[in-house]
Amino acid sequence: MKAATHAPLLAVLLLLSLARVGVAQFAAPSVLVRTTPDAPARGSVAWLRIEDDPARNDQPGLTDVGGEAAGEPLHFERGGRGFAALIGLPVDGGDTLPVALRLSRTGRVDSTLVGLVVRHPSYPTERLRVPPGMVQYDSAIRARVDAELAQAREISRRSHETPRLWSAPLTLPRESRITSPFGGAREYNGRVTSRHLGTDFAGAVGTPVSAAARGVVALVADFYLAGRAVYLDHGAGLVTGYFHLSRASVAEGDTVAAGQRIGAVGRTGRVTGPHLHWIMRYGGISVDPMTLVELGRSDELVARP
Ligand SMILES: [Zn+2]
Repeated sequence: MKAATHAPLLAVLLLLSLARVGVAQFAAPSVLVRTTPDAPARGSVAWLRIEDDPARNDQPGLTDVGGEAAGEPLHFERGGRGFAALIGLPVDGGDTLPVALRLSRTGRVDSTLVGLVVRHPSYPTERLRVPPGMVQYDSAIRARVDAELAQAREISRRSHETPRLWSAPLTLPRESRITSPFGGAREYNGRVTSRHLGTDFAGAVGTPVSAAARGVVALVADFYLAGRAVYLDHGAGLVTGYFHLSRASVAEGDTVAAGQRIGAVGRTGRVTGPHLHWIMRYGGISVDPMTLVELGRSDELVARP
C-alpha cells in the first residue's frame, strides 16, 4: 500500500459557473470550499468541506448544504466550522471534478458549481497469463456477470438511502500483507482488460475476514467473478465488499460492528489462489479502500453516528 502523500496545496479552485435560486443578489458562492486531502487523487475518497467565508458577514449563516458529484448525491453533515461530506473520485477522468452545491441560508437557496483539482496517481500494470476461457466469457456467463453487476449497483444505489452507520477510523478486514494494491491495470495474455478495483490481502483458506466498519449486510452471494462475496452497506453511499470467501458467517439484514468477523478467506470465483479482495464504493464509484483507512486516521470532521 502506497500511503497517500498530500502536498499542502490549497484545494479547490475554479468557479465554473454560478446559478441562483431564490432572491438574493450576489455574484460569488460566498463560501470556502476545501478538501482533505488538499489535492485528492482519482480512485480515492476525500472529505469535502464547505464553510461560511468569515470575510462575508453581510449574509445569514449556512443552514444546510446539499450537492452532487460524478453522478452521486453527497451527504453533508455539520462538522468543523461548516459542513462536510465524503466524496468519491472516479478512477478515470480529467484534472478537475465538477461538484454541484446547494447552499441553504435563511430565506434562500443558492446553487453553484465548483471544480475540484484532482491528482492522477500512477497505477502499476500487472501482467497475468491465464487460460483463455477465463478472459473470454461465453454469452451465458456474460449474462450472469451482467446480472451480478446490476445487483451490486442496486446495493450502491440503496446505500444512499441508508443513514450513515460507519465512522472513522476504519478497521482493516485482515491484518495480513497487501499482495496487490488498488488501481493497477491488468493485462491478461498481453491485453489490458481491466483495472484492479480493490485491495488484495494475503491469507490461507479459512483465516478470518472482518467488517471494516459498522454496516448492514446487504448481500451474501455466489458470484461468477467475486465467488462467495459479502457486501456491507455502511450508509450515506458507502459500500464495502469482501470477495473470494470460503464461507460467510453473516446473513443478509444482519447489522455488523467494525471488526466483527463476517467470513473466511477462500479461493472462490475467478482467482489464481486464496486471498481476500476488498472493495469500496461510494455510490457506484469504485475507490481505493485504503484511502478511507488513511483519511480516517486524521478525521477531525464527522461525528460518530
Ligand atoms: Zn483483487
